[in-house]
Amino acid sequence: MSWQFFLILGLILAFDAILIKTLSWAAETSNLKKYRIRTPETYRIPKERKKINTTLNGLLSLSFFGAVFYHFGDLIIGNHSVGGVTIFGEVLATLLLYDFMYYFLHRAMHHPKAMKYVHGVHHFVRFPTSNESIYLHPVENLAGLSLLCIAMAIIGPISAASFLLVFLLHSSINIIVHSNLALPHPIFKLFNFWALKHDLHHGKTLNRNYASIFPFWDQMFGTAA
Ligand SMILES: [Zn+2]
Ligand SMILES: [Zn+2]
Repeated sequence: MSWQFFLILGLILAFDAILIKTLSWAAETSNLKKYRIRTPETYRIPKERKKINTTLNGLLSLSFFGAVFYHFGDLIIGNHSVGGVTIFGEVLATLLLYDFMYYFLHRAMHHPKAMKYVHGVHHFVRFPTSNESIYLHPVENLAGLSLLCIAMAIIGPISAASFLLVFLLHSSINIIVHSNLALPHPIFKLFNFWALKHDLHHGKTLNRNYASIFPFWDQMFGTAA
């Protein structure tokens, strides 16, 4: 992998960190907090605990990707150079397949036993902000990232450019769905759609809206709200 690849990867990680901080600031302290979808009276999770959990999950994700690249990199990223249409196709196919598999993983994690020991950690957050986008049990974190890598390997090996785009979209959409903001401008239509859809999953309708990117998996399997 070239140094440019790692430079862009680093920039994506920096972008994600800025997106998390900006959106949680917007929801909690800025003038934009009036556009918050639901505001809690008190937070159930101490700030310190959130920080420890999300920092450890960030490190776990990086270590996981490092290990997967080291052992299975050839299955995920190919050396071929591709054009824009192929990149678009690889990215779309990977995200569609990932979200399809994630739908079932997430639905399975709502089984009472899995909820009690694993997914309940994330659902203990009743009023999410972007800060809690990776507030997870480590097993859930690893399971989600494994699905993403499996999707890339099934569709791929995909190009390095496609991988970077998948990584950017997957991480930033996960941050946006937890933003808890519905902003008043048509430009934010998709942003608001994702945030409102996932807010219902944390709030009113726990067993609806399992998919994280596309709406049609929930519509197809009768779990859309
Ligand atoms: Zn859930
Ligand atoms: Zn969530």
